[in-house]
Amino acid sequence: MARYIFITGGVVSSLGKGLMAASLGALLQARGYKVRIRKFDPYLNVDPGTMSPYQHGEVYVTDDGAETDLDLGHYERFTGVSAHQGDNITSGRVYRDIIAKERRGDYLGATVQVIPHVTDAIKQFALADQGDHDFILCEIGGTVGDIESLPFMEAIRQLRNELEPLQTLSVHVTLVPYISAAGELKTKPTQHSVRELASLGIKPDVLLCRAEHPIPDGERRKIAQFCNVRQEAVIPALDASSIYAVPLQYHAEGLDTEVLRAFGITDAPEPDLSRWYDILDRYENAEGEVTIGVVGKYVGLPDAYKSLNEALVHGGMANRVRVNIKWIDAEIFEQPEADIAAQLEPMHGILVPGGFGVRGSEGKIASVRFAKERKVPFLGICLGMQMACIEGARAGGVEGANSTEFGETAEPVVGIITEWMSKEGLQTRGADTDLGGTMRLGAYEAKLDGNSHVSSIYGGAASISERHRHRYEVNLKYQDALERDGLIFSGMSPDGLLPEIVERPDHPWFVGVQFHPELKSKPFDPHPLFAGFVSAALQQARLV
Ligand code: GLN
Repeated sequence: MARYIFITGGVVSSLGKGLMAASLGALLQARGYKVRIRKFDPYLNVDPGTMSPYQHGEVYVTDDGAETDLDLGHYERFTGVSAHQGDNITSGRVYRDIIAKERRGDYLGATVQVIPHVTDAIKQFALADQGDHDFILCEIGGTVGDIESLPFMEAIRQLRNELEPLQTLSVHVTLVPYISAAGELKTKPTQHSVRELASLGIKPDVLLCRAEHPIPDGERRKIAQFCNVRQEAVIPALDASSIYAVPLQYHAEGLDTEVLRAFGITDAPEPDLSRWYDILDRYENAEGEVTIGVVGKYVGLPDAYKSLNEALVHGGMANRVRVNIKWIDAEIFEQPEADIAAQLEPMHGILVPGGFGVRGSEGKIASVRFAKERKVPFLGICLGMQMACIEGARAGGVEGANSTEFGETAEPVVGIITEWMSKEGLQTRGADTDLGGTMRLGAYEAKLDGNSHVSSIYGGAASISERHRHRYEVNLKYQDALERDGLIFSGMSPDGLLPEIVERPDHPWFVGVQFHPELKSKPFDPHPLFAGFVSAALQQARLV
């Protein structure tokens, strides 16, 4: 049976628990263990799919079509282990399932309660699908003391009691703030947070203390004494130069050693961290730089494009260059006085990312046109590909080409998909279907045209599998118009009905994809589209 590591956070939110879980998973993996990481989110949405990116950041999509928390992206990027439907649960999903069972009469007249019904459902989720994993890490969203997270804490307390003594571990992430007026680090918030956790029946084994200044031994000893943990298990977690330095830094502070020790494992192999040194070297010792303009909608909040940002960094690592990202609000290109050329001329590559809604769409179309006419490397992702097709159709003579997502249109170059084949069979949708969980979601295959640019980008592959999250599709009926403007379909769904990839053979690097390649990019295995795009941007940088 797997060993369980429960990761909670205290004092404040945004401590980087997700990165911490991903880093600990990566360190255990580097020692040869098989790991899996799960996220428990206490909010009442069934999944984050319907939440605004401003609320929640990016929605991360798994191969099997779950819309999940963006921390699952960190887990995948750091460990290379593909997440599943069962790796992210919310209170909303637990309650939905329980209430459906109650309505069916499955509880046979019992009163349905938080304890045991909700806590049992949480425990079942934690214990499900253990496979041959050595460690299952469970990160609990939110901060200790939140009302919403109480059932999760209670489930952990019960599990720690029910499983074997050396089978579970509690890691608590806290903050040790620096008060500059006093010139001191303060341990009191950590003491309070551990007391709060202890009042819920959970005694932490390892404390990970986020701090902006080194934590002197005296403070570490104090935390250990007041919080009832070994001094060595008080791990300082200082801000890192990059997220890719975090596993190495935590290892140097003894995190994985202490975690293993707390499980009673003293003969673990030393970790092989060579690949972490390699990517950090590529990142920190880059030779040259490129600037990519990302023309999108949620540009005020980098978390909204988390995976995209990381995939561009990976593309930089593949080419040993630094990628500067210039986030540009597409709406500013819709102002009559907008000087698009002045904004976009300094860019070595232009990327229009995924998105929803009409706002900024004409600005995105204008950016596509600029990239096309000026022969600047262009990558359009999901909505970005749809905008490239609308631009191409308009240039190919279809006046008024548009997407039905933005309102009624006589020329629906992009329209709602009402039918498609998934692994579960034919899917059908209507314009009035629920918004939650009803998009074309998860991994789908695409067949590549053997003579295309994109086939060479993918190393000559005839077929690829990429993750989707969209409701609208490019309409095949407009193929001729698009071809008149030099835009061709170079990747299609296996049944030949849904355009998956478009490109411009007369352009140095112009690709639009209906899927989200950024979701599968890893630092150790940069996605070929991002490696290729950054390489093309590097050529462009040499030209200008
Ligand atoms: N809004 C578009 C659609 O639903 C694109 C979605 C996206 O970019 N993820 O098809």
